[in-house]
Order: sequence, then structure tokens, then C-alpha cells
Amino acid sequence: MSVLPITVYGDKILSKKTKPIKQVDDRIIILIQNMFETMRNAQGVGLAANQVGVDKSIFVMDIKPVEGYEDFKPLVMINPEIVLESEETVYFEEGCLSLPNLRAEVERPEIIKIKYLDTDEKEQEIEADDFFARVILHEYDHLLGKMIPDRVDADIKASLKKELILIKNREAIIDYPVTKKE
Ligand code: ZN
Repeated sequence: MSVLPITVYGDKILSKKTKPIKQVDDRIIILIQNMFETMRNAQGVGLAANQVGVDKSIFVMDIKPVEGYEDFKPLVMINPEIVLESEETVYFEEGCLSLPNLRAEVERPEIIKIKYLDTDEKEQEIEADDFFARVILHEYDHLLGKMIPDRVDADIKASLKKELILIKNREAIIDYPVTKKE
């Protein structure tokens, strides 16, 4: 397994919609293993393929390190699709491995239903709420080419501008491997 460099804000692949996976072959299995290793090395709880420079609809997550979620198993979602979002929303502070040191409150649906393929190419559908739903929605957003700055009001986005430029120029302090500036 290897730790891959993480793409950061400004890398074009992060603002593009990813492509569906046609077959879960050995290459995809290796990608998944490397994504878990990369995510854990950076102490993240979720990682999408375009965050390691791969244009595919897949993300991994493991929220076990978060208090209250110790029983949650690591998850891989391939070609996910949100099938239901509750009207009730919640605000909570989010971070992102592609936005080192940046944090912002993001409004998300409280409850969701999502279907996806597992690594055996079997269709799964689960309901998620609270923090679990939030991590799924955050990673799902990556597959749509969206990140935290796309999900906050214009005035908040404006207040993040300085930090975003620092990140884009690799001038932010980052304690895990990231891609070189494009
Ligand atoms: Zn992220």
C-alpha cells in the first residue's frame, strides 16, 4: 500500500464531476487500499478518488476515530447516488484534506438515503443521519466537483479567500503529502 499525494484547492480535477466505475477490477481494489492508507496517514475520516488525482466515482470513509462512532465500519462507496435528503438541515463545522487548516460551517440535510455499489459490485442502500450523513455528503460533493467553498454563502466564501490562496500556493502548513502546484 502507498500513501498518495492529496490534491488541494486549485487542482482542476477537484472541480470536475468524476466518471462512473464500470468494473471493480484489481486496479480499483489497489486504489481503494491506497485511498484508505492516504486518508489515515492524513488523519482524515473520508477521501474521494479525485483527492488522489483519480477521476472516478468512488470514495472511502472511516468515522471510527470520532467519538460516538466507534462501532461504525469503514465504508467504500462506488458510483453512489443520493436517493433522499431530508428537508431538515443542520449546520456543523467541516474540514477537508484538500483544504488544509480551513474550517467552515456547512448546512447539510440531517438525514439521507444513498445507494451505491460495494466492492463486490453489489448494490447497497443505506440511511444515514447526523455526522455519518455529513461525511457521506461531503465526499459525495467531491464526486460532483464541489467543495466546502461551494456550499457556503458568498460572504463566508469571501472571508475564506485569503486561506484559499495560501492553500492553492502551498503556503499553508500541511503535514501530509500533497500534489505540486499545477
Ligand atoms: Zn473534502
